[in-house]
Order: sequence, then structure tokens, then C-alpha cells
Amino acid sequence: MTTYFSYPSAELQKELADIANAIVAPGKGILAADESTGTMGKRFANIGVENTEENRRKYRQLLFTSDKVVGDNISGVILFHETLYQKADDGTPFVELLKQRNMIPGIKVDKGVVDLMGSEGEGTTQGLDDLGKRCAQYKADGCQFAKWRCVLKIGQNTPSYQAMLENANVLARYASICQMNGLVPIVEPEVLPDGDHDLDRAQKVTETVLAFVYKALNDHHVFLEGTLLKPNMVTAGQSCAKKFSPEEVARATVTALQRTMPAAVPGVTFLSGGQTEEEASVHLNAINAFPGKKPWALTFSFGRALQASVLKAWGGKDENVAAGQQELLKRAKANGLASLGQYAAGSIPSLAATQSNFANGEAAQGQYVAGSCVGAAADEGLFIKNHQY
Ligand code: 13P
Repeated sequence: MTTYFSYPSAELQKELADIANAIVAPGKGILAADESTGTMGKRFANIGVENTEENRRKYRQLLFTSDKVVGDNISGVILFHETLYQKADDGTPFVELLKQRNMIPGIKVDKGVVDLMGSEGEGTTQGLDDLGKRCAQYKADGCQFAKWRCVLKIGQNTPSYQAMLENANVLARYASICQMNGLVPIVEPEVLPDGDHDLDRAQKVTETVLAFVYKALNDHHVFLEGTLLKPNMVTAGQSCAKKFSPEEVARATVTALQRTMPAAVPGVTFLSGGQTEEEASVHLNAINAFPGKKPWALTFSFGRALQASVLKAWGGKDENVAAGQQELLKRAKANGLASLGQYAAGSIPSLAATQSNFANGEAAQGQYVAGSCVGAAADEGLFIKNHQY
């Protein structure tokens, strides 16, 4: 076995590290607005809006024409392919609107989750074919970073070795292809919150999954200083009977990261899956307030926890655009403060305060029955369907 390899050129290393550091600058995080067409349909269904290309454009226009102060707390926006090429009513490309607000355009490059044969309803993420070509095009079209999401689920026998090895490897291949094309890869191994497992089990699984991921990134010579990690916060399963405090969640999350995540990585941009807007902010705040070694920025890359109130305030109506934008500014501010450990719980109230974002936001407000999604998650087809982003 030879251990020879070479890192990217000094220029490319600097370019990648500069982008990654700008994304996780103090008090800033990412707006994940890369919902696929199908996922957008689920979000719109909750507010009675038809899932047409024009409605998706109007909604994203609302997000990207917010007051410029949004850029104080949102450093980057993850786009879906369709959105990258859309324009505002006045013809301004969305990418321009983002740049005017000091927000870096990013792009989702994975093509969704597919079943792993012989597994207990586990999956891997596809999209490597042509990825190099697509990354080169996206870079030319203004994107500076990319996202690829893998999902792992906790069950009695899962995540399996097969799923952890495969997902880590596909994330590493994706990351290396991004870096070759000047895009910072956001590496997202999401351990799902479905199930009745406790906090300890969630922590141990997250540690093991991250250990697989960093081994694979090393195997593929990925330049860690030019990457970001987008993990789940470590929380107990959604149907766990025991409740854990934000401080306990923070301890479990920071400990899992300390044990597995190299200090060379500039930052963590947590996803919000399964949490209400307020919970996600309170947890992020507790993570930053947790005493202990934290050699990376710990911030947000929220989809649902930045948009639930926006969608609710907008409701598909032109006259509500300003109200929707106000909600975005509020959530951006709350999470910007939380990323500094300065958010006081309840101080920036959420319009969707009781809305659980569990199961991709399909649980209607206050109607989620504990455990009711667990059976569905055990069904292979449904599991995959429920967990596309
Ligand atoms: P949530 O914050 O809604 O979990 O999503 C963020 C994301 O980009 C998932 O891939």
C-alpha cells in the first residue's frame, strides 16, 4: 500500500478555505432553500398553495428580496437547480439578489435517496454521475458551495455497517469532486430523529457515523479546511418518552463532535430536522453556551426552522410578502444570536411556535401523534419517500 497523494494547489486551498470561513463567520449561518419540487409541494400543501413553477419562483423571490439586513445573519443560501436560474419580477437573476445581500449562492447537487438492497429500509444518496460537469457549470454560474445529504436511521439493527460505509464513501466522492471544481462541499450525514431511542443512543450513533465520514474523507484526500459539516444535533428520538433539556442536548452534541470531528474543519452548520423553530434556536444557543473545547464555528443551515413562520405568514398571498419577509428576518436574527450563544429563549417569538417539523413538516400543527411515524419509517418505500429533501 502506498500512502502517496497530493492536496489541491495552494490557490485552490485558499479559495476553498476562504469560502468556508466566510460562510461560518461569527453570527452567520445558512438558509437552506433547496427543497426539491416534491418537497416544496409538501410545504405548499400545508398552506394551501398550488405547487407550480411560478408559485415556487414567487416564494423564493420573497426570501431573496428581504431587507438587506438579512445578510447580517445569513451568509449563504442553498438553492435547488430550478431556483438558481430563476429571476425576480423585474428580471434580476436570483443569484444577483443574493450577492447584493452579501449572501453566497450554493447548490444542492445530490439526486435524492434510494433503497439499499437487503437492508432494513436504509438508503444511500445518488447523483455522482456527471457530478464533475454539473459542479463546473454551477461554479461558472455563480455558486461557491454545494450540499449533498445522506440519511441514516436509528433502529434496533440500524444504522448498519453497509449503510454507514456506503454513505460515508459517497459523501467523500461528492466532496472531492466539488473541491476539484472550486466548490466547498457541505457534507451532510443526517441521523434521522425518527424512533423512540434515547439521547445516549443518538449520541453513540452520531459518533460512529461521523467516524466513518471522516475516515472516508481522509481516504479520498479531501481538504478538510475547505469543507463544512452539516450534521443533526444529537437529540433523543421523536417518540422517546423521556425528555431531555437543551443543556443535555448540547452536551451530547458537542461531545459527539469533540470525539470525531477534526479541528481542521472550519465549522458545523446544523440542520433543523424534526425541531420547531424555537427548539432549533434554543438548542443551537445551548450548544454554543456549552463549556468545553469547541474549535469550530457552530452555526445553522436550517430549512424548516427558518421557513415555517415565513410560509405561514405568506400563505401564497402577494399582500403578505412583507409579513413573510419580517418572519425571515426574525428567525435569521434569532439563529444568528444563537450561533453566538446570545439567544434568550422566547425573546424572538415564532409564528409557527407549536409546529413540529417532524417527518418533513408533514405533521400538522399540534397533530403529530407520538410514534405514529415509526411504523411508516420501518416500511422501506415509505421511509425513502418521507425523507427526500
Ligand atoms: P432542515 O433544517 O429542514 O432539516 O433542512 C435542512 C436541509 O438542508 C436538509 O438537507
